Amino acid sequence: NTMIKVNNIGKTYNNQIALQSVNLDIHNGEFVALVGMSGGGKSTLLRLIAGLEKPTSGSIDIDKTKSKSLVRMMFQEDRLLPWMTVIENLSFKSKKPEDIKHAKELLDLVELNDYADHYPNQLSGGQKQRVALARALMTDPEILLLDEPLGALDALTRRKMQDLILDICKKQNLTTVLVTHDVDEAARMADHIVVMKDSTNYFETDGPKDIRNP
Ligand code: ADP
Ligand code: ADP
Repeated sequence: NTMIKVNNIGKTYNNQIALQSVNLDIHNGEFVALVGMSGGGKSTLLRLIAGLEKPTSGSIDIDKTKSKSLVRMMFQEDRLLPWMTVIENLSFKSKKPEDIKHAKELLDLVELNDYADHYPNQLSGGQKQRVALARALMTDPEILLLDEPLGALDALTRRKMQDLILDICKKQNLTTVLVTHDVDEAARMADHIVVMKDSTNYFETDGPKDIRNP
């Protein structure tokens, strides 16, 4: 039940090799973390999975049979629209009752039901990221890609958000790929960790034990 199959992927920017010969199988419902040095190609791999960029070589197969094949991404910045309220950021001002209902359900899920009519600038960093998560889930994606989503948050908020995100991903059976610089975050959240040392060297591990000294 492979959801994302990365086949011998390579990516080169001009003369800069970002990734070389990367192979990965990510299963349905699995939570995978990509950790490692800055410049190791983590964000590049995420953008390739998202289809935002094309690989220089190799391919990425996404299982479209069990899904509308929807992939959604969440970033370190919330990317909310400041002139729209929280609920409008989710519904995009749709007047359809089912859209509004779905938006409210997701606000419940991220524990922000009291904030539907607030504007983003009235929220804390953690609250804004919870809205960003809810917005990513509006289209019922099968795959959620998280690019350092908690990177700008303080330690305590970060901790709480880790638990919340993990809980939601498991409840909704999302296939999740998290990019993080934080080894503890990866160890806490992921079923499976991929350590990316540089463009050519990476290894996979099932647990936190051997990732501290890659
Ligand atoms: P990480 O996310 O692990 O920090 P990146 O995927 O951002 O790594 O970058 C991997 C390598 O590819 C780096 O050497 C980076 O400078 C290069 N790179 C990434 N994106 C681009 C781009 N758009 N143009 C040129 N080089 C890039
Ligand atoms: P992250 O911290 O998430 O890895 P980066 O700071 O590496 O992100 O990259 C941010 C943006 O800059 C990305 O869109 C990436 O494609 C681009 N980028 C990264 N490295 C380079 C580079 N050497 N040349 C041009 N663009 C780059």
